[in-house]
Amino acid sequence: MSLTATNAADSGTESVAAPSTGAAASPAPSYWLDGRLIDPSQPVAPLNTHALHYGSAVFEGIRSYATADGAAVFRLPEHMERMRRGAAMIGMDFDVELGTRAVLETLRANGHRDAYIRPLAWFGVGSFGLDVEGHPPHLMVATSSTNVHLTGGRARVSVSRWRRNPSSSLPPLKLCGAYVNSILAKREAKSRGFDEALFVDAEGNVVECTGANVFMVRNGRVTAVEHGDALPGVTRDTLLQLSGAESRTVSLAELLEADEVFACGTAAEVAPMAEIDGHGFGANPVTRELQELYARVVRGQSADHRHWLTSV
Ligand code: PMP
Repeated sequence: MSLTATNAADSGTESVAAPSTGAAASPAPSYWLDGRLIDPSQPVAPLNTHALHYGSAVFEGIRSYATADGAAVFRLPEHMERMRRGAAMIGMDFDVELGTRAVLETLRANGHRDAYIRPLAWFGVGSFGLDVEGHPPHLMVATSSTNVHLTGGRARVSVSRWRRNPSSSLPPLKLCGAYVNSILAKREAKSRGFDEALFVDAEGNVVECTGANVFMVRNGRVTAVEHGDALPGVTRDTLLQLSGAESRTVSLAELLEADEVFACGTAAEVAPMAEIDGHGFGANPVTRELQELYARVVRGQSADHRHWLTSV
């Protein structure tokens, strides 16, 4: 999204400035914005957009896959419901039915099959105060054929020196401002030569990665790391259902003793960890099995799980 001031920024009135362009007329991808498809290179968010200053916004990360019956979105209702809960937290109404339609329309307009889908709802122009009341809510959807988290390979992970936002301060939902916490941890891990950060709480229990939940495998037994400060991941829930894994608190010490550790998320899918701070994990046969099973499920190759797919 281009963040260039428009006349609306000066007047403090409703923000959306970009004209509608038909998807077919433009080779550039379209974004869905407040009910119409637009060219994403056009300026749309004025400089006094509330969300730009305070992160008063909520987003989702969703994926669609090419299946034998055409493109389908994986667990779309669950993502929309989480977005609704996040929006409600900041006093924003989120229309799940409209969000669903926007996602599907954007995918169709862009002709995407395998895609990462980014809906974002935010508070627009108004005062510079912290009260969100009176700021108009907006909704956009972008779709992209590129992935965003932990792509490819086995991740090299480091325990973050930052603590995860405690849920007593920020609910573990996809509130935009909360992700500065992930940005800090990611920056720190990368500056020390790692791919990803692992959040551990003050008691030494594992929370999650910057954009993914954590599982471990020990003696063939799969365990999902459970923590009240971690995002309740859709992929985590999927893998729990597919594997019959147990879900419980796991300390860092126990995680390091595991045979295999992996992160999971919509974007990361099932991403094996190669190491945590120099402590290496060897072959990861169970992770690979789950990776393959997950790949079949999201692509509609498992009859028992087709109800998780929404046809585009
Ligand atoms: N934790 C965090 C902090 C995340 O941002 C994500 C990605 N949404 C996840 C976990 C995984 O959630 P999901 O499986 O729903 O994508």
